Amino acid sequence: MLMLSRKLSENRKKKINWIKWDKVCLDRDGGGLGVRRIREFNLSLLGKWSWRLLVDKEGLWFKVLVAKYGMTDGRITRGGRQASLWWQDLCDVRNGIGLSIGRWFENNISRKVRNGEGTLFWKDSWLEGGSLSTRFNRLFELALDKNITVADMYRRGWDAGGEVGTLGVDVMDKWMWRPDPSIGYSVRSAYHLLTHLVPVPMATHNDVIWNKVVPLKVSLFAWRLLNNRLPSKDNLTRRGMHLEDSELCLGGCGVAETIDHLIVGCDMSSSLWIKILKWLGIFGPLPNVVTDHVSQFCNIFPVGKESQIGSQVLWLACCWSIWKERNNR
Ligand SMILES: [Zn+2]
Repeated sequence: MLMLSRKLSENRKKKINWIKWDKVCLDRDGGGLGVRRIREFNLSLLGKWSWRLLVDKEGLWFKVLVAKYGMTDGRITRGGRQASLWWQDLCDVRNGIGLSIGRWFENNISRKVRNGEGTLFWKDSWLEGGSLSTRFNRLFELALDKNITVADMYRRGWDAGGEVGTLGVDVMDKWMWRPDPSIGYSVRSAYHLLTHLVPVPMATHNDVIWNKVVPLKVSLFAWRLLNNRLPSKDNLTRRGMHLEDSELCLGGCGVAETIDHLIVGCDMSSSLWIKILKWLGIFGPLPNVVTDHVSQFCNIFPVGKESQIGSQVLWLACCWSIWKERNNR
């Protein structure tokens, strides 16, 4: 598990949350680490089984469940306390019970009616707004046949031309997953739905952070660096940490230690950057803010993907070395 808290030697019990969990759980394009939310992911997987309960009634596993728990009104019964935990969880997803996010599964499935044979007029959700039994509860109470299909309702003289104008075609009804009507249920789309991932603007410097050449630990370091979440002295003080020694830079320059100062501003680091530029045969100033610095440094070579990857690796290696050096002091 990724440790985003850092224990300090003086105060081992206190942990600092460096980045909000919500941000960590965003995908990489959104500027996060793409860590999955376990609960929502688990629900998405259970949703897959709930979906299969609807669309795969010929499957052996379906028949086993029917044999074990029995059927009521076309649905496999929940069973009592003896039912397996997996089955109980699955029923909760199917029925939308006991979940803070409510009927997320049921509200996102609907029946696409073609010949109307396989769809229950009252109980299945086949029109906008959920099943007719919940929308018109009192009418449903009066209905004599609560399990009548749409096709039977049609045959009993219910007029064509309305919502079911296409009835009569020889095509089976089928289930639709609203977030993805053409493909059907997928764990991915359900997870997306459950986590309400708001599309955020493309995070900058993602190509640097997730450069494929560098080890993952360097990417994670870069991610913290470019989000200003490394435990520099100013960041520690801002989070209520009492520092035994001073808040000044360890380079002895007399300036307060911030990430910008440490990585690019301090004499110690800027002399390194100047040497690197000289070695590359390039002369000119670099910005003293890390996020500007990376943009400029990684574009110092003529255009070309390989040279850009190379300059990114170089930039990351220098930052990594500066940070290591600082921690050794
Ligand atoms: Zn300094």
